[in-house]
Amino acid sequence: MLCMHERDIFDEKQETKSANYSCPMCRERSDYEVRWIKRTKKKNAPRNLNQNDLARFNKSRDYLVRVDDTLVCKNIRCRKRFEIPSSQSIVFI
Ligand SMILES: [Zn+2]
Repeated sequence: MLCMHERDIFDEKQETKSANYSCPMCRERSDYEVRWIKRTKKKNAPRNLNQNDLARFNKSRDYLVRVDDTLVCKNIRCRKRFEIPSSQSIVFI
């Protein structure tokens, strides 16, 4: 069997989460809609896994991956693009 991929382990779903950030340029705080992909582990392991892949499957946990890296400031006098300041772009659930 070929190398196991994320999509063999997880079901994917797009999610949007609202988060409050302050723009590093103008310091104005706003709520932003940030896109994530939620990967939920499949109930059953795919067939014909070798031992390594099965171990990997068993160890895997559900997680979220952030899709957006940058936001555009909502302050109309600023409108600068800034990086999402949160340190984590992957969150285990
Ligand atoms: Zn700003």
